[in-house]
Amino acid sequence: MTKKVQLLTTNNLKTIKGEKLGYVTYILYLSPHRANSRGINLCPHASRGCAESCLFESGFGGIYDSVRQGRINKTEFFLSDKIGFMQQIRIEIERAIKKHEGKANIVIRLNGTSDIVFEKFKFFEGKNIFELFPDIMFYDYTKNYKRFEKELPKNYHLTFSRSEDNGGIAMDLISRGINVAMVFKRTPKDYKGYEVIDGDANDLRHLDKRGVIVGLRYKKVTGKGGHEKNINAISSGFVIDYEREVLAGVSDNLDNIYHSISKKVKNNLVV
Ligand code: SF4
Repeated sequence: MTKKVQLLTTNNLKTIKGEKLGYVTYILYLSPHRANSRGINLCPHASRGCAESCLFESGFGGIYDSVRQGRINKTEFFLSDKIGFMQQIRIEIERAIKKHEGKANIVIRLNGTSDIVFEKFKFFEGKNIFELFPDIMFYDYTKNYKRFEKELPKNYHLTFSRSEDNGGIAMDLISRGINVAMVFKRTPKDYKGYEVIDGDANDLRHLDKRGVIVGLRYKKVTGKGGHEKNINAISSGFVIDYEREVLAGVSDNLDNIYHSISKKVKNNLVV
């Protein structure tokens, strides 16, 4: 039986940082990828690395079975009754507006741990949830580059999310001024010619300047099998090991210099 639960939550370490700036962030956490009874993929553009080290497995989701089960329950609700689900989201947003009226700005992230194209769901007399609440700011991260091909609602901010298998797309999007989130082992100040901003300082992505990399520190998977997953996250290339990349570049350069000098020396030998 599908159990209804509170869908939007505010208790997240990163969003608490936004509260100091006058924003209350509500996030919908579903169970990502195929973690549902039907095996339906809610993250169709997920890479192997991201699926393995997904936030669903880290933070509270990796610690408490009850949190994980709560997310699965929400997902089952979504999959069995999308209209009813979006109606409940609507009611919860209306409640949040009343609660914070005149006290704080509300921002909403619907894909906390999923990658659903919510702009397609026009369940409110032909409007989607963004059009229904034009004065509320929504934001998400996505690996679905196709979402940038159409004009997004003005109150919906999307940051593209780089993984080990979409690096070319990520660099193309950032060259067009679209912000790209990248997960680093240790975050540099710039990467591949672009400024890296601290994406962990808060989660208010709609306030970021354009054309930057949003640097996120890798959050270790804390659940079962976490150790192996953390190793895979780095070896798969999902997490960027910046120091290693630079050192590998230096070593390649040294190899090239060595070969070029030794060729010159050999050419200069008489016998
Ligand atoms: S796309 Fe995002 S939410 Fe989905 S599995 Fe990857 S990291 Fe998790």
